[in-house]
Amino acid sequence: MIRHGSCSCGQVRYQVSGEPSRVGICHCTSCRQETGSTFTAFAVWPRSAFQSSGDFATWSGRSFCPKCGSRLFALRDDEAEIKIGTLENAPTNFTPQYELWTWRREHWLRPVDGARQFQRDPDE
Ligand SMILES: [Zn+2]
Ligand SMILES: [Zn+2]
Repeated sequence: MIRHGSCSCGQVRYQVSGEPSRVGICHCTSCRQETGSTFTAFAVWPRSAFQSSGDFATWSGRSFCPKCGSRLFALRDDEAEIKIGTLENAPTNFTPQYELWTWRREHWLRPVDGARQFQRDPDE
């Protein structure tokens, strides 16, 4: 299965093939500031499953479209972490398996059913 995604203006496009290795939500300060929202929902694929076209910019490991400002993905040597809100088809069929930085979660958000809850990062 191939999923397609893009920024708002369409300059940056990407695709990921196969199913993600994990899906999560993060409520940390970096994710809040980066997205301007109160949490990030992301899915992670092996880096080899990811392809993109168009020029993107990267700050602190997180990539975005320099034209329209959409936040898209974070690419690491072995993994591609996609912000699932930038995928073409909504809603996705993903359910987050874990939540990070839950002590930063807004009081009007409830934990996702069945998702592992971490107060901070899992290794802390
Ligand atoms: Zn754009
Ligand atoms: Zn975060």
